Amino acid sequence: MLNAQDPNCLFCKIVKGEIPSNKVYEDNFCYAFYDIDPQAPVHFLVIPKAHVTSCGEITKWNSDLVGHCFEAIAKVAHELGVTDFRVVANCGEQAGQSVPHLHFHVLAGRDMSWPPG
Ligand code: AMP
Ligand code: ZN
Repeated sequence: MLNAQDPNCLFCKIVKGEIPSNKVYEDNFCYAFYDIDPQAPVHFLVIPKAHVTSCGEITKWNSDLVGHCFEAIAKVAHELGVTDFRVVANCGEQAGQSVPHLHFHVLAGRDMSWPPG
């Protein structure tokens, strides 16, 4: 069963429109918006509308949301004319996750280094 939204979650509030965002895409299952602190010329986030805390909470009951988010990533990238991009999901504080609602960063428009910091 999918998790409902968490009333105390920042990204759930964005999905509900309680906090403004610069939306780039929305459908029944996911929402995409530009990052408020962009780390590349193109930097948007794709999130499931249902509250899933992180990649560590993906199960057979909610994993279809992940595929759906990646469909949205491809769709938005195509619409923005972006062919080369990086998708990042930070999971847990040590990995740099600051908002505990599953989100995929999509970064493009500059050279990317590897390994990431
Ligand atoms: P992470 O640090 O991987 O959890 O990513 C969270 C991202 O959310 C960061 O890149 C923040 O800049 C971004 N962020 C935080 N608050 C907002 C907001 N109100 N609107 C858009 N992006 C936000
Ligand atoms: Zn949430």
